[in-house]
Amino acid sequence: MLAELAAAAALICLDPGHGTAPEIGRELEPIGPGSARLKVKDPGGAAGEAPVALAIARRTRALLLAQGYRVAMTRDGIGYRGGNRERAQFCNERGAALMVRIHADGSSDPGVHGVSTLVPALRRGWTNDIHTASRRAGAIVQNELVAATAARDLGVVERADLTGFNWADVPAVLVEAGFMSNRREAGLLRSAAYQQKVAGALARAAQRFLIR
Ligand SMILES: [Zn+2]
Repeated sequence: MLAELAAAAALICLDPGHGTAPEIGRELEPIGPGSARLKVKDPGGAAGEAPVALAIARRTRALLLAQGYRVAMTRDGIGYRGGNRERAQFCNERGAALMVRIHADGSSDPGVHGVSTLVPALRRGWTNDIHTASRRAGAIVQNELVAATAARDLGVVERADLTGFNWADVPAVLVEAGFMSNRREAGLLRSAAYQQKVAGALARAAQRFLIR
């Protein structure tokens, strides 16, 4: 009961990938606090990825709100005026119980398909505070994602190079909900039915993560 009450008050931060204003997206930002390594704020993502990510985020938000959670979204349209550092800080400042970054994948090989969940690799001073919880969340998210979509399971993948993870001070995962470069999966990703399956998986995963 207490766990459920605590979970009900929790805030989930949803971060639909890309959709950045072009002049901002070109700018550089350090990949982590104090890092000399710079990456662009938004390389643009796979063709058609930004609207798919936003659609899934909006559906996830509706489900989470209906479950009694609080939800914040880094963007709710196009023309976002920040980088991945700002996206992480947005979730940090709100004390999110979980940051869910929503993306779709792209490959030069049109035959590649499937879903994966990225989590922060362990780096002292950057992610040691969120590594264990993020890994636990990532395993739950991937499990729910595969169950809901029946897509090929590409697993949970640790990443050390993602700015949005390295600046996060709250548990964070990044869902690659399928490949925009695969004709069949791109069609699914653009469909309301598949978007709703992914959203359902994300909402259930957040609940499982919070009520342990
Ligand atoms: Zn992306």
